Amino acid sequence: MNSATELSQIYLDANATTPVLPQAATAALTTMETLFGNPSSSHISGLKAKNLMEQTRVKAKQVIGADTGTVIFTSGATEGIQTAIISALVAAKTAAKTSLKQDQTYSLLYGATEHKAVPESLKHWNAILEINAEIKAIPVDHMGKLDQDFIAKEAPNALMICTMAVNNETGVYQDLTQLDSIIRQANPDIYWLVDCVQALGKTALNLANTSIDYAPFSGHKLYAPKGIGFVYIREGAPFTPIIAGGGQESGLRSGTENLPGMAAINVIFDMLLNNSQSMAKNQFADVDTLRAYQQQLVDTLKSAFPAVVFNHSFSNSVPTTINFAIEGFSSKEIMDLFDAANIRVSSGSACSSKVTRSFVLDAMGLPKWQSESAIRMSFGPAMTQTQVDEACIRIQSAANALTHSCMILDSGEISQKQPLNGLVQLRSGPNCSWIYADQHSKQAVIIDPLPELNERLDTLLQCQQLELVAVIDTHGHADHVSSRQYLADKHLPDQLSDHLGWPQNCSNVTQAGELFDYITIGNQALLKVATPGHTADSISLLLCDPLANAFDNELPNKSADDSSEAISITKSLNQQCRFAFTGDMVLMGSLGRTNFDTSCAKAMFTSLKRLHQLIGDNTLICASHDYNNEFTTSLAAETSRNALLANTLNGQLSQSQFEQLKAQLDSQLCDESGSEILCGALPANLTAKVNITEYNAESLTNALSAQQVSVIDIREPHEYALQPTSSTTENVPLTRLVQFIQQHQHQKHKPWVLVCRSGSRSMVAAQAMQRLGFDNIAHLKGGYALS
Ligand code: PLP
Repeated sequence: MNSATELSQIYLDANATTPVLPQAATAALTTMETLFGNPSSSHISGLKAKNLMEQTRVKAKQVIGADTGTVIFTSGATEGIQTAIISALVAAKTAAKTSLKQDQTYSLLYGATEHKAVPESLKHWNAILEINAEIKAIPVDHMGKLDQDFIAKEAPNALMICTMAVNNETGVYQDLTQLDSIIRQANPDIYWLVDCVQALGKTALNLANTSIDYAPFSGHKLYAPKGIGFVYIREGAPFTPIIAGGGQESGLRSGTENLPGMAAINVIFDMLLNNSQSMAKNQFADVDTLRAYQQQLVDTLKSAFPAVVFNHSFSNSVPTTINFAIEGFSSKEIMDLFDAANIRVSSGSACSSKVTRSFVLDAMGLPKWQSESAIRMSFGPAMTQTQVDEACIRIQSAANALTHSCMILDSGEISQKQPLNGLVQLRSGPNCSWIYADQHSKQAVIIDPLPELNERLDTLLQCQQLELVAVIDTHGHADHVSSRQYLADKHLPDQLSDHLGWPQNCSNVTQAGELFDYITIGNQALLKVATPGHTADSISLLLCDPLANAFDNELPNKSADDSSEAISITKSLNQQCRFAFTGDMVLMGSLGRTNFDTSCAKAMFTSLKRLHQLIGDNTLICASHDYNNEFTTSLAAETSRNALLANTLNGQLSQSQFEQLKAQLDSQLCDESGSEILCGALPANLTAKVNITEYNAESLTNALSAQQVSVIDIREPHEYALQPTSSTTENVPLTRLVQFIQQHQHQKHKPWVLVCRSGSRSMVAAQAMQRLGFDNIAHLKGGYALS
């Protein structure tokens, strides 16, 4: 599987790792082939190897400005950090037996924005060595600067302090001279570790002028291979080897040395030292040039994405890091977009179970959205003007792709935009907003709008020149704020509606003797049905094919204040109904909770039965939450895994039995998930994933040439536009998956293979479709990234 437009990658993620420079790779290879001796051997091969090692050590000290002290080669910075922490804590423990006060609690201090390797190692060795010190984070201000008053106050009682020279997410640097004097004034004996990983090659280091005890460095952050690093230890600072054995590195770190790694880093040192005798030509740019590159990238970001904000000040950060966020976009969306434009950046956030935020930006007190949407662009001193120019072109084309799919506004012609037709599911975390647009009439309706999506919804309406017919909540949301009022004020200032946004000026029809209010969007009708239960005001909205089909003539345009008889529909609704927006009544894998003040399980029992009567088994249900990435469901899909719902609908449960079982279900509900209230329980057995057939690049190519499968690219239109796949591939973005499922209900056995960037979106989409009866669905494992 090859994408039609193969662009070479622009790598802007140097703070994660760097490519090995050709000169460094050549040096490593030559060493492996010709200078392969063991530095401990006393023959000539060994002596030559040892000579290379010692030369590299001398240069290491030169580049970090250390005339005294020791440099030990390590596997990388994490090992250097362990070495330093163990050495300091073992010394502190020994002192505890003699000089430290027995009745005093000591602490270990670390900067709140430190790389996780530092606090995690502190915690680990504090426990293993039974130091039992209190581990305290030193706060930072909004600029990322360490709180000096905190240090002055806490250092007298601390055994060790760990700070960093340059932050890996923001590039923010600390003033080491100033820190030195604060720390030493407060406690001349405290052991001081400075993580210098991100400083090397980006800012001058002069360790001889400081009292830093330990400084770890890493080769792979500066164009050397992974697996080589070094740690500086100040003369007189305590040291405990963490690897014992053959006594290499003067007994400080045993194990046969990584000579190819040292040869590579030696070349890098030559470049840093501008060593004219070196074979390797220095290709590192100076700080002014790097600053100019940064400015060019920043200017391009600003003009391409007017809503960009920068998450750090450039006045106290190195020129090689730009951390930004674009209002209205998650970091995942920007990552996907940039990846499609073949620009590699990283999301500045750490992903844990539910939290996708940057603890660094949180510590700096940045707004939540900036921390959640953070993107880090970073480069190294080997960056070139050509690469910067190309990166800027790509950033602009990524932004153009967003304007083309109406995700950002420009002054371009509407005819140049990708037209929006049908149902779109927008999400913010587990919450969903729905927009239905009819391209022909240019009318649209929004259901359950979320404030986080205001910008996007506004842009979409404006860019597609859509007329908003109504903006409606399915109930008064308790767990989050609705932006219904905001959108109504802006787009429907004169519309009279009820508190959920249902327009007063609606029409009505009767079906089987029941009266329904409805409004029209193009030739579609949106019917309102009261479905109380989750809350007293809950409604369901049924989007139906032209009601005219039920009469075989024009859609009746009848307003509610028209006193003549309501028109009656002859066909059953479930044949007409395409989507049911049921709010929090039927959730994927569960039912909405009924333990709010305005909830009523009894009413939900009746509402569920009524909904079933109206929409039948297979109408797609569009809920206002999707806790489990399932997009949509149907009553048939739900009853197959939800006994409570199944027994309610098949009449096996009485209303009071339902109430009892529902109360039990609600009592197991975990109330808080982070800061959000789950609106329905997720019984664990319902969340089990189904198995999906997986293709790899080779098997998919074979299946395609044998015309056995069709490929669906489920990336968003802007990603697809930047990196289109073969002409036979259909683009069905995830935001339109529900629409696609609805349109292909009659093709449930068709062999489709879903593909995306990394294989994770295609996997969840395939699972969702398989659960709804698409039994021949597969996906491309690893996505385009591996093909
Ligand atoms: N410290 C900082 C600031 C880093 O950026 C990293 C790597 O991301 C490390 C420590 C760990 O370095 P290594 O990968 O060499 O173990």
